Amino acid sequence: MDTMDSRIVNVVEQAVWDLMRRVLEEKHGICTCPKCQADIAALALNNLKPRYVTSAKGEALARADSLDQTTYIAVLVALAKAIEQVAPNPRHEVSPGQ
Ligand SMILES: [Zn+2]
Repeated sequence: MDTMDSRIVNVVEQAVWDLMRRVLEEKHGICTCPKCQADIAALALNNLKPRYVTSAKGEALARADSLDQTTYIAVLVALAKAIEQVAPNPRHEVSPGQ
């Protein structure tokens, strides 16, 4: 038994970070600083059911591409809603020129 090297991973959280970067790449004029990205991810995750898998030695972390269709779409919808909420109200000063 090699329990020391096993850990649990929320594949939905992995997918949120993975997909968020892709979605934000296509959006323009919204803040993509680490603070806003964390806010978007947290909001989206609060609206999603976690799905945990065990990951031996951290290998083979699930990527968005390996999610089932229903979860994939749920993540996209939650992300879109979170971006709508966070983008107009960044919780920090907007830097000059933005
Ligand atoms: Zn920001």
